[in-house]
Amino acid sequence: MKKNFKDIELIIKNELRITFNAIKTIETKTKIVDLDQQLIGRLSRMDSIIDKEMSVAKLERQKLRLNQLEEALKNLESEDFGVCIDCGEDIEFQRIKSNPAVKKCFDCMKG
Ligand SMILES: [Zn+2]
Repeated sequence: MKKNFKDIELIIKNELRITFNAIKTIETKTKIVDLDQQLIGRLSRMDSIIDKEMSVAKLERQKLRLNQLEEALKNLESEDFGVCIDCGEDIEFQRIKSNPAVKKCFDCMKG
């Protein structure tokens, strides 16, 4: 593991925990919506269906993020971590810090 990557490991683990909790919260909320629908009228049912669709979309995003973070954590041990998949240059450290799942350097992301 490269020198500064201990920090990155902590950042990834922290975000993993946050993402995991977010998934659990959304899943619980989605289940409550299911129960509610038997009790409420048609109008508010429409609302909760829309709510539920939004929750499902949010859930998908969080699960995707969870996968990316888990992958980043695995890659952390490899030589390729922090190296741009397009140009092979090191990705700016600040950039990795703000998003450990990033795979391209700033220049390649732009292009
Ligand atoms: Zn690049």
